Amino acid sequence: MKDSSSNHAPIYIILLGAPGAGKGTQAEVLGKRYGLAHISSGDLFRENVSKQTPLGVLAKSYMDKGELVPDDVTIKMVMERIARPDCARGVVFDGFPRTEAQAQALDAALAQENKKIGAAISIQVRDQVLIERLTARWICPACSTVYNLLSNPPRVAGNCDKDGSALGQRDDDKPETVRRRLDVFRRQTAPLIEYYRRSGFLRDLDGEQSIEQVTAAVVNIAQTL
Ligand code: ADP
Ligand code: ADP
Repeated sequence: MKDSSSNHAPIYIILLGAPGAGKGTQAEVLGKRYGLAHISSGDLFRENVSKQTPLGVLAKSYMDKGELVPDDVTIKMVMERIARPDCARGVVFDGFPRTEAQAQALDAALAQENKKIGAAISIQVRDQVLIERLTARWICPACSTVYNLLSNPPRVAGNCDKDGSALGQRDDDKPETVRRRLDVFRRQTAPLIEYYRRSGFLRDLDGEQSIEQVTAAVVNIAQTL
């Protein structure tokens, strides 16, 4: 795949990884570089939570506990999102699918339009590193840009580089919820690594390199598609 100015059949890239692995950070770069829509199921839920929609109220009750939102509502929300026009060139999925039922629903939706996944990139990071990263993660409430006090700080402490908003921490990045989310990842999402390995789409990647090195590795994979 060349950059965003080229013509190409739509490309679907999945970023798989534990909370804090760097999915959102890399999805943002890939999306811009190749003109793909960046779909973060977590960001979609957080938007609904902040607008207090019925979906947001339901999702919050799971998110606060570090558990997954039920498959039926999650699948419906993401399927509606991929039907929007900005997905015409393709999508980079960040945080979806997270269960085998979600992966099957995505495969079926793409197959219906004679499309398929290009790559599922598994970004691997050890738990102790994930915990350090999540406790230092700060996000912009207005544009969802992600920072890290240790590895990726904003230019002005406490404010977003893009729009100057005051940065905040996610409620679910507190240590007890982080541990629960890592546990949920191991039980419910890690099996997807084998699911995509079986279908031949899996690409493994060392997520403990610097953000720039991980980007270079992700771009290398995207260029083969
Ligand atoms: P992270 O970036 O730390 O992996 P996300 O922002 O992707 O976290 O997700 C935050 C929370 O939103 C999850 O803990 C879960 O409650 C909910 N969520 C996000 N994506 C999904 C999904 N695909 N299926 C079910 N729940 C999800
Ligand atoms: P995810 O979407 O997988 O939960 P994020 O992209 O939000 O992960 O990254 C989690 C935190 O770690 C953020 O604060 C981010 O700035 C930081 N981060 C992302 N990738 C790296 C990396 N390769 N090295 C160090 N810190 C990173």
